Amino acid sequence: MNTPQSTDHSSPKKVTKQRIRLLEQSAAVSGQFSDVLENHLNWEEFGSWCKNATTRDVEQALASRKKTLFDFAALISEAAKPYLMEMITQSERLTMQRFGNTVSLFAPLYLSNTCANECTYCGFSMSNAIKRLTLSAEQIDCEIAAIKSKGFDSILLVTGETNKVSMPYFEKVLPQFKPAFSQLSMEVQPLESSDYKRLQSLGLDAVLVYQETYRRQTYLEHHLRGNKSNFNYRLDAPDRIGQAGIHKIGLGVLLGLDDWRIDSVMMAAHLRHLQKRYWRSRFSVAFPRIRPCEGGIQPKSVISDKELIQLMTAWRLFDADVEMSLSTRESAEFRKHAIRFGVTTMSAESKTQPGGYAEDAKEALEQFEISDDRSVYDVSNMIRQQGREVVWKDWDPALR
Ligand code: SF4
Repeated sequence: MNTPQSTDHSSPKKVTKQRIRLLEQSAAVSGQFSDVLENHLNWEEFGSWCKNATTRDVEQALASRKKTLFDFAALISEAAKPYLMEMITQSERLTMQRFGNTVSLFAPLYLSNTCANECTYCGFSMSNAIKRLTLSAEQIDCEIAAIKSKGFDSILLVTGETNKVSMPYFEKVLPQFKPAFSQLSMEVQPLESSDYKRLQSLGLDAVLVYQETYRRQTYLEHHLRGNKSNFNYRLDAPDRIGQAGIHKIGLGVLLGLDDWRIDSVMMAAHLRHLQKRYWRSRFSVAFPRIRPCEGGIQPKSVISDKELIQLMTAWRLFDADVEMSLSTRESAEFRKHAIRFGVTTMSAESKTQPGGYAEDAKEALEQFEISDDRSVYDVSNMIRQQGREVVWKDWDPALR
């Protein structure tokens, strides 16, 4: 990665402002995001923005109409902690303006826990001696019926990453889901742009590819084997999704793998890059924190509940249009309050093992433990008690 170049001898603040302008321009003109990261972004620089942010930086960020990456760094810094109530108020107002009085619900369905990768934080890692299962067409029919009976109209299909569960399998199963759900999302191995296009023709609406961490060295320490150890191929997947014209692109980092603040500023830069290039797509962000799992690890940088609230509200202030998703990794109590912080989408009654809705699967097959195990009925009631409407369907291809 390059360090910022400047021969300007004016004040550090002025240099920073020039640098931010340069960054935003670079994001617009460079190629794939791996080029932008390699040539224009700097982990240490973003770290110093977060670490050295002052009260004045935070107040300027809160007051500015269009937030820069520097503003975002200030809003997630230690210096912004005393401003949390103001951030929550602004975030709630912006969310209501843009998304109305609603929270969308979706069901994640794990189609397979077979995986050829070795990720230090995941129970599906290849070397873990767990029973592997890939759902058959008959099992999928049963799962669809069970999920529909709970009221869901939006589904997220999740798989491990292996050649055995790749394009031929996706092409076979997508037509099974399309008649039953108005929104089909996938969180599977990164694919080629032509593959995404093909899946879109079969009804795919959204693709989530989480980078886990934007620091290459840390990424390689946690992705030990398999295709996922190719940092750049994963990093450029959202560009390929955008090139295919997929309606929605989801980004995320696994909070705790490395410094959560710097990873979040990197992700904000990634979002800006994608928005400038693929302006027809919508975007979503998620905030998974490391959870215990088989063969799991301890987080390197722990993010507290209060800091997660700060991060979520900072995201809303940074981008009023981005969808924000919160999974059942978080506790029932946290999810209840999170509705005020800018969240627009939630999973409910999730199973993190293949199948599990039609009949109870074994916990030993889980990718990670969930924290909020309430029924979809209870989650819907909670959302209504918080003064919001539950939305089962928020998008139709006819609106394209
Ligand atoms: S995180 Fe994904 S790629 Fe890594 S082991 Fe788990 S399922 Fe496989």
